[in-house]
Amino acid sequence: MTATLTPAEAARIEAKSALFAPPPAVEPDGRRDLVGLPRDQLAEALLVVCADEREARLRAKQLWHWIYHQGCRDFARMSTIAKPMQARLADHFVIGRPEARTDQRSADGTRKWLFRFRDGQEAETVYIPDREEDRGSVCLSSQVGCTLTCRFCHTGTQTLVRNLGAGEIVGQFMAARDAYGEWPSPKGEAPRLLSNIVLMGMGEPLYNYENVAQAMRIAMDGEGIGLSRRRITLSTSGVVPMMDRCGAELGVNLAVSLHAVRDELRDELVPLNRKYPLAMLLEACRRYPGASNARRITFEYVMLKGVNDSEADARELVRLIHGIPAKVNLIPFNPWPGSRFETSPASAIRRFAEIVMAAGYASPIRSPRGRDILAACGQLRTASQRARRAAA
Ligand code: SAH
Ligand code: SF4
Repeated sequence: MTATLTPAEAARIEAKSALFAPPPAVEPDGRRDLVGLPRDQLAEALLVVCADEREARLRAKQLWHWIYHQGCRDFARMSTIAKPMQARLADHFVIGRPEARTDQRSADGTRKWLFRFRDGQEAETVYIPDREEDRGSVCLSSQVGCTLTCRFCHTGTQTLVRNLGAGEIVGQFMAARDAYGEWPSPKGEAPRLLSNIVLMGMGEPLYNYENVAQAMRIAMDGEGIGLSRRRITLSTSGVVPMMDRCGAELGVNLAVSLHAVRDELRDELVPLNRKYPLAMLLEACRRYPGASNARRITFEYVMLKGVNDSEADARELVRLIHGIPAKVNLIPFNPWPGSRFETSPASAIRRFAEIVMAAGYASPIRSPRGRDILAACGQLRTASQRARRAAA
C-alpha cells in the first residue's frame, strides 16, 4: 500500500506547500538576496554582472566561499574580487540576514531570538548549549505557524502564515553564527559552539520540504558551513510520504514526535495521526535509510500528566519500536498560558524512563531549558504580536 500511496501523496503535499511559498528574496530597492540559492542558481543570478557563464561559475565559487565559509556580508571586504566587480555586485545583490527583534539569554545558557524577515513575518530560533561540552544545537523554524494542531503545542494554536524560504531557514543559523562570532567555518570536526542543527522550531519541516532541503544542502556543503549530516536532525510529527524522500535525499537524522502509543490517543494529541496512523508511521521509520545503532531514530515523547505517562504506555512504546535502532527523548511538557495539560511528575517520568531503558533503549529525560525566556516553541512570536497589538 505504501509504495503506491507515497509518490501521489508526496506530490499532493508539495503542491499544497507551494501555496504557502515565501515572497521573493528581493530588497525594496530591487537588489536580490544571494543567501539560500543553490550553487547553480547562484551562478545563474550572477550572469547579470558577468561576461559569460564561465565567469559566472567562477564568481559563484568565490562568493560561496565568502558567504558560507567566511560569513562575509559586505562585498567590499571580499579581497579576492577586484574593486569594480565588488561595486557591480553591491549594485545588484545583498547578502541578507533576518533581523533579530528580540535576543534573550536564559540563566542556563539557552539563547532565543525572534527573527523578523523581509515581509515582517517572524519566527523563533533557539540556541541550546550542551551541558558537558563546548558545543550545542541551533533549533531552526521551518514555517511561520503550522497547519497541524497538536494539542500540547503552542505553535499549533497559530495558523500557518507561510513557509520560510531556504535563505530564511539557513539564515537563522548564519545569524546565530554571527552572534557567536563563529566565522569562518571551523574545519572538519574542530570544536565549535554551534555544532548541530535541529529542525524543531516552529512549523512542520516536511510540509516545507523543498525549502528545508535546499537550506540543509547549503548547511552541509563542505566548502561553506560544512556541517556533517550526522549533526543535523529533522523532527517530524509524522508526514509519512515525505519521510522516505528526506532519508534518501538528505540522509539527516530523523526525530519523530510520537507522544502516544495508541491510535485513539495519538489521534487526539497529534491529529495528523488520523491520516498517517501509528502502524504506517513505524513502518516508515523501519525503512528509514541509514538508521543503525550508530545513527538512531529519536522518538520524542512529551510527558503529559495522567494522559500518556503510565507504565502501560511505556511498555507499549517498547513493543511498538521493537527492532528499530532508536532512542527515546522524554520531554517534560512545557506549559504555556491557556494550555490544558500539566507536566508529569518527576517520579512518573523516571519510572517511564526505567522501563524504556530496561528494554535496551537510551531514554534521556530532556531537562526543561530556558523556562525563563518562554523557550517552548511558538510562545515568543505570540508574545510579540500581543505587545504590538497593545502598542497599536
Ligand atoms: N513540527 C515538528 C517539529 C517542531 S515541534 C514536530 O512536531 O516534530 C518540536 C518538538 O517540540 C516536537 O516533538 C513537539 O511535539 C515538541 N513540543 C511542542 N510543544 C511542546 C511543549 N509545550 N512542551 C514540550 N514539547 C513540546
Ligand atoms: Fe506543528 Fe510540530 Fe507543533 Fe504539531 S508539534 S503543531 S506539528 S509545530
